Amino acid sequence: AAMRTSRIKRTKTVCTYCGVGCSFEVWTKGREILRIQPDEKAPVNGISTCVKGKFGWDFVNSKERLTKPLIRQGDKFIESTWDEALTLIADKLGAIKETHGPDSIGYIASSKCSNEENFLFQKFARAVMGTNNVDNCSRYCQSPATAGLLRTVGIGGDSGTIRDIAGSELVMVIGANPAESHPVLATRVKRAHKLHGQKLIVIDLRKHELAERADLFLRPKPGTDLIWLSAVTKYILDQGWEDKAFLEARVEGVEAYIQSLQKYTLAYAAEYTGFTQEDIIQIATMIHTSKSVCALWAMGVTQHTGATDTSTAICNLLLITGNFGRPGTGAYPLRGHNNVQGACDFGTMPAWFPGYEAVQSESVRNRYEKAWGVKLPEKPGLNNHQMVEAIHEGKLKAMYLFGEDMALVDSNVNHVHAAFNQLDFFVVQDIFFSKTAQFADVVLPASPSLEKEGTYTNTERRIQRFYQVFEPLGDSKPDWVIFQELANRLGAGWSYKQPGDIMAEAASLAPIFAGVSYERLEAWNSLVWPVAPNGQDTPLLFTKKFGFPSGKAKLFPVAWTPPYEAGVDFDLHLNNGRLLEHFHEGNMTYKSEGISHKVPREWLEVSPELAEERGIQSGALVRLTSPYGHVKVRVEVTDRVKGNELYLTMNSAEGDSAVNYLTSSYHDRITHTPSYKEMGVKMDILEPK
Ligand code: SF4
Repeated sequence: AAMRTSRIKRTKTVCTYCGVGCSFEVWTKGREILRIQPDEKAPVNGISTCVKGKFGWDFVNSKERLTKPLIRQGDKFIESTWDEALTLIADKLGAIKETHGPDSIGYIASSKCSNEENFLFQKFARAVMGTNNVDNCSRYCQSPATAGLLRTVGIGGDSGTIRDIAGSELVMVIGANPAESHPVLATRVKRAHKLHGQKLIVIDLRKHELAERADLFLRPKPGTDLIWLSAVTKYILDQGWEDKAFLEARVEGVEAYIQSLQKYTLAYAAEYTGFTQEDIIQIATMIHTSKSVCALWAMGVTQHTGATDTSTAICNLLLITGNFGRPGTGAYPLRGHNNVQGACDFGTMPAWFPGYEAVQSESVRNRYEKAWGVKLPEKPGLNNHQMVEAIHEGKLKAMYLFGEDMALVDSNVNHVHAAFNQLDFFVVQDIFFSKTAQFADVVLPASPSLEKEGTYTNTERRIQRFYQVFEPLGDSKPDWVIFQELANRLGAGWSYKQPGDIMAEAASLAPIFAGVSYERLEAWNSLVWPVAPNGQDTPLLFTKKFGFPSGKAKLFPVAWTPPYEAGVDFDLHLNNGRLLEHFHEGNMTYKSEGISHKVPREWLEVSPELAEERGIQSGALVRLTSPYGHVKVRVEVTDRVKGNELYLTMNSAEGDSAVNYLTSSYHDRITHTPSYKEMGVKMDILEPK
């Protein structure tokens, strides 16, 4: 037995799926994954994991993994050596930069890859290639939440930790489905609710698991959250229930904000949201009678044309009631990918250096120019939405994308595919031959987390290390190694020996990471940014100061505008989102046997009322049509949805029923996040059952 266990290797890793950031040991023998072993020392999850973290790892050894660089020849791809592929990329990108200028190339980063890889990629775009055209998939999800936070409290991260959420007296969950999207976080809420008297309000179109358990569950009309949030805030002010001492001492802009709420009366809210006046009063009263309130939100809020404004309204409500800076209070936009927080934090954004310092700030640019020995571009770059438009306009000629399946996950994908077809040169770097890779000129094989080391930052701003378990499969390489080899072919002269060197550089440049080091992150240790030079981290924000120079928060007036509507022909509203077992487009989970066996494909939820009206049953095959495309999908009749509300899981086994064949190019006014949730469709029955 001793001999047997001695051949078993145990390595600490961090989950590659959602933003909760569970960590655990992977037990392996050779390339075989024997088990996932959680540990009490894991700072976020302790001994818990969900089905994805526990069983979602077989993809690492999938036969479909990319193991060689591929170069397009006509309609085919042929295998190549690294030397050939990198030489070709360096020559092409160099020539396009020379002919059309640095801003003719776009760079799409990955929220699945490490902080160090994202840091290096933005350095490649900015310092080597001379452009701020770099963005990541937070543009598809939480950018509006970040923008709402930056307007009001000045720091674009969750206010506290998951432990703080569990200790809150009242948790409001708005447009989020944590039981499936952030399962271990949801178990903390479920336990606090069941055992410690925590109150739970859920506002959602769909009666999901937490909604079933909620003390108050309400379904608003789609796209009207800003109205009820503002009406609740106004009612609280009208009753004199605001936290006067907090507002006096810590908040600016109170008078102007109160003025802006005039129109959000109970009657107005009732007319537009579908709530009754009593519903609004009940929410306000529950907030008023709770000592600590926190708000959790996700794509149900952020994927709308008014998403930044609604996120702002949530922060305004929390400010008016003094719910920041104490345990159990605050704003928690729930991050989707394992490292969407980190990708943003480490600077793969068109207007920000790492640590949210503006590229337009001369003093910040000087700091980076001195460290990197180059002149840096001052103008903010294009975000990924603008990049697609710039390709259509003939301004963007080439793209370099890693660890992101933009051809599936962007909205209105027919429009995106047409753009990709126009590119002069397209590099895609991934672990699988993704949908996006089909449009590439060169495809580079990368290594997943188990084949490299690095750090991820979870939704709480917690930075954790993951360690290498396996050697890279075939000729695949860690993303950071690929960036360095390419940068050096373009004359950069980088010499990072390991990811820890990259983190050391980030820490020396971005003040919020000043005290971050691999030594301080050893094993199960973690740090929650901002981290002071002495290593002191900040699990709870805003205890003394908000993130503005004055130290005060700002109430920010916002106004409701109606959501985009597809027109009378499209009589049903289609909502969409995750399910527990699969992750996003499904690139990893559909290639993990343990999971794809259980849940082999996606489905459409139809309400019992609508099913009866249309004469269909569970198992029926329908075609959904929007102004932008159509998909075929099987039906499940369920009272999780109501009336004319449909729900389509956003993962797709074959890519044929991907929701983004239906979505439009409409987007949040401020951040350009697609309004995936504002979608009208019509439904044709192909087989009633
Ligand atoms: Fe992974 Fe999220 Fe599940 Fe934790 S809750 S195991 S981080 S998918």
